[in-house]
Amino acid sequence: MASIFSRIVAGEIPSWKVAEDGRFYAFLDINPLAEGHTLVIPKKEVDYIFDLDSETYSGLWEFAARVAKAIEAAIPCKRVGVAVLGMEVPHTHIHLVPLQTEGDLDFRKEKKQLTPERFAAIAASIASEFNKQ
Ligand code: AMP
Repeated sequence: MASIFSRIVAGEIPSWKVAEDGRFYAFLDINPLAEGHTLVIPKKEVDYIFDLDSETYSGLWEFAARVAKAIEAAIPCKRVGVAVLGMEVPHTHIHLVPLQTEGDLDFRKEKKQLTPERFAAIAASIASEFNKQ
């Protein structure tokens, strides 16, 4: 069965998209640690990041760096933190989280509650910065 993220890529499940190309897709995490918390995935469904073929692996990180630059431009933050967990969804994804302090990357902390309008505005502003590159 296709992963929830493959279903997002296929358009079967909605997402707050921030960037896409032929091989990769980036969208807002629905349970964000901070405004602008984004997931970057390969469209190819592989559970574990270190099982990706080397071309997809390096392409994913290059794409994530471009998304991180767009997040930095759109969201006030000191820098963008990176995490790879995959404890919940078996489809490789990189978490990009705008940071003010190191505690902002603590996955045990309470997630932000945002309205659909706020998600849409954040996604649009990151997408706009991405499209300027
Ligand atoms: P993990 O697999 O441990 O890295 O966690 C999966 C992440 O995906 C969590 O931060 C979830 O909030 C996020 N997530 C799960 N389903 C969705 C979805 N439909 N749209 C956006 N983010 C999601």
